[in-house]
Amino acid sequence: MRIHDSMISLVGDTPLVRLNNVTEGISATVLAKVEYFNPGGSVKDRIALRMIEAAEQSGELRPGGTIVEPTSGNTGVGLAIVAQQKGYKCVFVCPDKVSTDKINVLRAYGAEVVVCPTAVDPEHPDSYYNVSDRLVREIPDAWKPDQYSNPNNPRSHYETTGPELWEQTDGRITHFVAGVGTGGTISGTGRYLKEVSDGAVKIVGADPEGSVYSGGSGRPYLVEGVGEDFWPSAYDRTVTDEIVAVSDKDSFQMTRRLAKEEGLLVGGSCGMAVVAALRVAERLGPDDVVVVLLPDSGRGYLSKIFNDEWMADYGFLESGGASVAEVLRH
Ligand code: PMP
Repeated sequence: MRIHDSMISLVGDTPLVRLNNVTEGISATVLAKVEYFNPGGSVKDRIALRMIEAAEQSGELRPGGTIVEPTSGNTGVGLAIVAQQKGYKCVFVCPDKVSTDKINVLRAYGAEVVVCPTAVDPEHPDSYYNVSDRLVREIPDAWKPDQYSNPNNPRSHYETTGPELWEQTDGRITHFVAGVGTGGTISGTGRYLKEVSDGAVKIVGADPEGSVYSGGSGRPYLVEGVGEDFWPSAYDRTVTDEIVAVSDKDSFQMTRRLAKEEGLLVGGSCGMAVVAALRVAERLGPDDVVVVLLPDSGRGYLSKIFNDEWMADYGFLESGGASVAEVLRH
């Protein structure tokens, strides 16, 4: 019988698809690693599985225990699916600016979601950070994965994403491009590809303009899931050869083109990573193989990136237009 024992065995082994249209005028091969094929719809299923399995092995997560993590997005979905299949409870803590759709997805998978006010200082007892720390202390057998500092986040990519790319390209990959959030994807995948190629594969990080990874101040930007205002320990900055900063407008316009021209309905950090990949590929020749990782699906962004009014409000539809800072000031 051709069956999978549970959704867990569908994590990873995602397809690599050639980009044919947005690459016009580029002679290098540009391939997309499409992570929405994971069962929870994003790259984060990989880290959820690895972090949970490692905590089971170390005894940090005991049978019937509870996973507590401050997350509202893709990591929560991955953790919720793996947890329910393995008999753990999940409590996620998120700020009240998170859309009800995202909260409802987590609840649909059986997780409990605690919503905290955004408009309080980080030191306030009701802040998102303090509530998650308090829950970890108060709930018996609670365990907090902490994707920003957990070494099993990058390790999951070292063990799965990296080897998959090397095998899928028959060792012909020359450049790997990925957005940087926690830094887990680029650090783990990049380290594997460097080791297996004796340093030949170049590793390129894509970052929203304003984020610290590309030298920004941490000023606001709208692309979700990438960029930071601090340096997480999951990010190994010795692995990246180059960081490319991309504006919100370029990111979102490319995200729309990927749906219209490549049949890829993906999220805004995917458009951002593709812009960075194309900027790199423009400098390269026909023997180069650039792989860009696309973390999630566009379904979660229909009322933003794929909504003309929202795009127009920020001036993202026409050339020129207001910056995010200008719009936020209104
Ligand atoms: N894009 C999206 C939509 C994400 O949720 C994340 C994870 N924060 C990333 C990109 C970046 O991945 P990483 O945390 O591995 O750097």
